[in-house]
Amino acid sequence: MSTFLTLNKSLYTRRITDAVDLLVLLLAPLSGLLHPNAKVYYESVVYLFLILAVPLVLFSFLFYRFSESNGERIQGERKKTPPLLYEAFGSVRAMFVVACMAGWPVGMYRIGIPTGLVWTLQEMGLTWWMVVLEMYAGIMLVDAMTYWKHRLLHTRLFFAFHKHHHTFRDPTPFSGFAVGPVETVLTFWPLLLICFPVAKHFAPLYFTAIGGFVILNLYLHCGVTFAWLEKFLSRVGLNSSAWHNVHHCDVNANFGEVSFIWDKICKTTKEDFAKKKAAKA
Ligand SMILES: [Zn+2]
Repeated sequence: MSTFLTLNKSLYTRRITDAVDLLVLLLAPLSGLLHPNAKVYYESVVYLFLILAVPLVLFSFLFYRFSESNGERIQGERKKTPPLLYEAFGSVRAMFVVACMAGWPVGMYRIGIPTGLVWTLQEMGLTWWMVVLEMYAGIMLVDAMTYWKHRLLHTRLFFAFHKHHHTFRDPTPFSGFAVGPVETVLTFWPLLLICFPVAKHFAPLYFTAIGGFVILNLYLHCGVTFAWLEKFLSRVGLNSSAWHNVHHCDVNANFGEVSFIWDKICKTTKEDFAKKKAAKA
C-alpha cells in the first residue's frame, strides 16, 4: 500500500513539475508582449537563438569527436552510443529560454533605451584594474549562486526540475546545457540585470567570461580528461571534467558549477561523503 502511495506521489510531483516547466517555456516568449517594442524583441529572440544554438550544437559535435578520440575516458569505454539527440534537444531548449531572456536587454539596446551594457572604461567610470577586479568579484558571486542553486535543486522538493540533466550518467558535450526550463531561468536570470542602466556590465570582459563559461561547461561534460588541462584547471581553482563527472555518477557530491571552492567549504566533495559514510558505519 505504502509503495503504491509513494509511486502515486512521485507521479503527481512529476506531473506538477512538468506543468511548471511547460508554463515557463510558454511564458518566456510571451513576456515579449510586454517589451517596449515587441517586434524588435521577437526579432532579437530569433537572432539570439540562432547565434546561441547553432554554434553550440556544432561546437559540441566537434568537441565530442575530438575528445572521444584524443582524451582519456573517465568511465571506461562506452558500452552503448550516448543519447546525443536527446542531450542536444535539452541544450537547444535551454538556449531558447536563454534567448527569450536575453531578448529583453538586447531588444532595449537595439531601440536605444539605456541598458547596463557599456563598451568603454569611460562609460564604466572605472580604471581597467577596477573593472578586472569587479569582473572577478562577479565570477565569485555567480559561482556561489550556481553552487547554492544546485544544492537547492538536489533537495527532495526541487529535484524533479533538475532530473533531466541527471538522465545523462556518462555525459557528452551535447548535455552541457541540457537542463529543464525552470533550471535555465534559475541559472541565467542575471542576464536580465543588463536591462537596468545602473547595473553596468563591461561588454568586452562580460562576453569573454560568458564564452569561457560555455567552453568550460562543454569540457565538464565531455566524459574524458586531458591531463594538462585537469592540472591547469585545478591550479586556478576551476572545476574539471574528472571533478564534474563524479557528480553525474554519484549525484550527492561535487555540486560546484564553476569552481570547487564551495564544495570544499561545505564539505560536499566525494571524499567528504566517503568519510561521512565511513564514520556512520
Ligand atoms: Zn546535479
